[in-house]
Amino acid sequence: MTEKHVVVLIGPPGCGKGTQGRLISQEFGVPELSTGDMLREESSRPTEFGQRVRSLLDSGALVDDATIDAVLARRLGARDCAHGFVLDGYPRTIAQARALDRLLERCAMPRPVLLYFEIAVDALVGRLSARRLCPVCGRIYNLVHQPPAEMEFCDDDGMMLVQRTDDTPDVILARLRVYEELTSPLLNFYAGRNLHRVDAGRSPSEVYAQVRERLGAALVVAA
Ligand code: AMP
Repeated sequence: MTEKHVVVLIGPPGCGKGTQGRLISQEFGVPELSTGDMLREESSRPTEFGQRVRSLLDSGALVDDATIDAVLARRLGARDCAHGFVLDGYPRTIAQARALDRLLERCAMPRPVLLYFEIAVDALVGRLSARRLCPVCGRIYNLVHQPPAEMEFCDDDGMMLVQRTDDTPDVILARLRVYEELTSPLLNFYAGRNLHRVDAGRSPSEVYAQVRERLGAALVVAA
């Protein structure tokens, strides 16, 4: 991307935002910023804040808006964000979407291109239960649909894959409820803006083909 571009990925847990965010980041050379990853890193610290974040993540509830807004604002100040970024997992509430508009204006960044990953909810519990991650490079696998060549080891660096502690059936259902209640209203909030739908029920490469096509059109519109 030669201009500054901000891409926001919206969709329920398990819709493939992380996988697609990484592909966009690799192709367009802008960082993928996952607020979930930032919070998981915080939650591994033995501080009071880290432990508070950990118990929220393990329950499937959201971290409060002021806290996550501050975590993101700090990250956006880094040099690698100067030419744009892909946001995965933020905003998740209307208040965060308003905060993002203010933040982008303050940083002289353009308004975001929004990609909405549309998928049937009943596909998600199975997808999330079979999700595994490489703890070192962050690559995401699905043991059923996108398994590694050698079961449970990362193709790229050979590390043993791990399961997220919030990818358990109870917590998955709680996260889906939170999405319905607090995050899906973003679709109305962003109606009439640079919002594009993607059919996320397909394979990662088919989804990415749609993402590229939507981004091509959207970035021209946004220019
Ligand atoms: P994710 O990796 O995007 O599925 O996020 C994992 C968890 O991190 C969520 O279930 C929330 O507890 C927390 N989280 C991530 N992003 C946000 C956000 N923008 N606002 C509040 N909580 C968040």
